[in-house]
Amino acid sequence: MAYTVTLIPGDGVGPEISEATRRVVDATGVQINWEIQNAGADVVAEYGTPLPESVLESIRRNKVALKGPLTTPVGRGFRSVNVALRQELDLYACLRPCKYYRGVRSQYDNVDLVVVRENTEDLYAGIEFQEGQPETRDLIAEIARLGGKEIAPDSGISIKAISIAATRRIVRFAFEYARANGRKKVTAVHKANIMKFTDGLFLAVASEVAAEYPDIAFEDRIVDNMCMQLVQKPELYDVLVMPNLYGDILSDLCAGLIGGLGVAPGANLGDEIAVFEATHGSAPKYAGQNKVNPTALMLSAVMMLRHLGERAAADRMERAIAEVIAEGKDVTYDLKPTPDDPTAVGTSQMADAIIARLR
Ligand code: NAD
Repeated sequence: MAYTVTLIPGDGVGPEISEATRRVVDATGVQINWEIQNAGADVVAEYGTPLPESVLESIRRNKVALKGPLTTPVGRGFRSVNVALRQELDLYACLRPCKYYRGVRSQYDNVDLVVVRENTEDLYAGIEFQEGQPETRDLIAEIARLGGKEIAPDSGISIKAISIAATRRIVRFAFEYARANGRKKVTAVHKANIMKFTDGLFLAVASEVAAEYPDIAFEDRIVDNMCMQLVQKPELYDVLVMPNLYGDILSDLCAGLIGGLGVAPGANLGDEIAVFEATHGSAPKYAGQNKVNPTALMLSAVMMLRHLGERAAADRMERAIAEVIAEGKDVTYDLKPTPDDPTAVGTSQMADAIIARLR
């Protein structure tokens, strides 16, 4: 059976790692018609937006997409297309497995964690008020009127909202994932001691949902303590579930535990639609150099094959990637003992080595 999958190559290093990944997926023998869709800064001139409706339509139609990273201008310009995609398609769960592969350079060799990040609300909802604008002044006055605290008049404001419904569905997602994947424990991460009405609500709802899953252990950790614990004893943790901002930060921390962003895959999932993408961004300084590690996007594609029900192909692809990394010969600079190792190969050569190992 052939699948149609939307492929968003992305920008920066996106096109190179997307091409490398597409070649490896095709080499597994799974028949995929790739529907190429472009988004981001490069299409603004043509479509007047970095996220054309045709991209959303393609993903809605195909239900599955593989996506390269897209650059977001800092502090100006358009809002993140990556965040907009998740919101537009209600991809409420961000799933980021962080598993150590032998041969990767890391301080740890015993990490097998899964970060489940709520994707739609919290400080990332984009409810923001710019400093000095009339609406911002109104909001500051309204908060003072409602008996809230004084906010300095020269403030910019970002609103953090966390709902019962969105918390319930992300925590259920985490427990369902744990159950389906033989995981033993879910840890809710929060700052409920300080933000009682948002993180406090997250923790209360998480505890309620946990009671529905007596077969899976449940505990909670305050986010700052969680960071320290993960650095000291990551082996104690299994599935972590948390609001959006902490999820963003802890995903990178956990990627660091397994050897860096070059090997950290991910998926953004809704009830019907799934978009698979690496945790890392567009690494613009390496764009066009055939240099960066394609593993993170390739492991995201492995997750995609599993999602499509192609478990055998997914297992073969994962094994081929793991073998090439373990051998340590045909790997990119970040997997070598030093970043300037002259034996490092390029993105496409690493893909060739993985294809040669597929069997
Ligand atoms: P980044 O993840 O792009 O890169 C940070 C550093 O990590 C790189 O300089 C490089 O040293 C390393 N790195 C990243 N990917 C690698 C790979 N595949 N192989 C080897 N090394 C790798 O983070 P950034 O520099 O903070 O962000 C650059 C742009 O990407 C920003 O515009 C940001 O908004 C965007 N971004 C997009 C996504 C996404 O598309 N989902 C995610 C994160 C960041």
